[in-house]
Amino acid sequence: MPDERIIPPAQKKSFPLCLATKHLENPADINTYLSIGGYETIKKILNEKIAPADLLEQIKVSGLRGRGGAGFPTGLKWSFMPKGIKGDKYLVCNSDEGEPGTFKDRDIIRYNPHQIIEGMIIGAYIMDATVGFNYIHGEIWSEYLSFGEAIKQARKAGFLGKKILNSSFSFDLHAVHGYGAYICGEETALIESIEGKKGQPRFKPPFPATHGIYGKPTCVNNTETFASIPWIIKYGGQAFNELGVANAGGTKIFSVSGHVNNPGNHEVQLGIPFAELLNMAGGIWKGRKLKAVIPGGPSTALVPAHEIMQATMDYDGLSKIGSSLGAGSLIIMDDTTCMVSVLKRLSYFFYEESCGQCTPCREGTGWVYRIIKRIIEGNGRLDDLSLLKDVSNKISGRTICALGDAAAVPVLSFIKHFEVEFEYFIRNGKSMIETSND
Ligand code: SF4
Repeated sequence: MPDERIIPPAQKKSFPLCLATKHLENPADINTYLSIGGYETIKKILNEKIAPADLLEQIKVSGLRGRGGAGFPTGLKWSFMPKGIKGDKYLVCNSDEGEPGTFKDRDIIRYNPHQIIEGMIIGAYIMDATVGFNYIHGEIWSEYLSFGEAIKQARKAGFLGKKILNSSFSFDLHAVHGYGAYICGEETALIESIEGKKGQPRFKPPFPATHGIYGKPTCVNNTETFASIPWIIKYGGQAFNELGVANAGGTKIFSVSGHVNNPGNHEVQLGIPFAELLNMAGGIWKGRKLKAVIPGGPSTALVPAHEIMQATMDYDGLSKIGSSLGAGSLIIMDDTTCMVSVLKRLSYFFYEESCGQCTPCREGTGWVYRIIKRIIEGNGRLDDLSLLKDVSNKISGRTICALGDAAAVPVLSFIKHFEVEFEYFIRNGKSMIETSND
């Protein structure tokens, strides 16, 4: 039975929730955040001694799902953290966005860092965490520095540290500059990295909720997830839920890049039609036509134009057309794009970023890259396409972490939708697409 409170896709629009201060002067300053009611929520929680269980219930009602790519329900994840145990519990904000086309978390850090901090404080209060880290991608130095400044401001104002706002609740937060490897965005690799080790994923189970940083309970969530929390608690889980769609509440920042007139971040209500989002990004550039879209970052399946133009931007909407929302990083490709060349670049990314622990991923990603490279160099063989599919299928599901699966997705989806282009390249030693130099 459809929920009548859900706003129809045609009426969904831009909604600056995590980027609430972006349009203001000195957006990252604590006074700007205070001027829009920032930190009022944690003040109210501490003043009124609101029970953590009641707050957790609001997160569950909100339908918030992790914004880093996996889309796991946040309230459920938080409920896995053990209660009533002695010693430290850790909270980690995962700002290690390193996939091509992802650039939303750095914008939240750059423009609205205090909303992340308040979200983490509320999360720490709910889960009884003592120490937090924001693990910031190694290639964005200035955001690491600016987040450190925001922490200092919050500490000075009494929102971080011992006995926050004279309550019995203590929590402190630190910025960590990441190693710059894509795999450090995987939560257990990130935990290894925080501990000062090589950033390689751990076997699971045990999961971080019981065995995280230094073997202690640890909860890792994405930047956008934490930045959504103050709004949810302030206006209620139901209000957040109603912004989105039945299976996923709230707003989402979509990072639109590629062949559009106005690339950038657009924060909109979940369930917005793709066509509307494309319009917000200024449409396809140079009067050309849309050819295909990677809707959620390179680890999500490619979708051809005729399918994506009918889709809504939410978990179920993209799943229906064989792809997924991922981190909401759309790479838009116009009709002059050679899909063989794009796949070569993406396969190199996964080959280079494989941490090397699992044989299927370490060797498989290398072979995928080498096969596509030889096609591009005019030395392709007619059985290369079946070989690429076979290697990709043998990586998928046989690795420690999801990078293996992620590496297989573009290969399989590119060949599925554009096999003719690959065959032409193999037979003729050149692309059938007249590419531009853009
Ligand atoms: Fe490392 Fe790849 Fe195995 Fe992940 S799947 S642990 S990146 S080798």
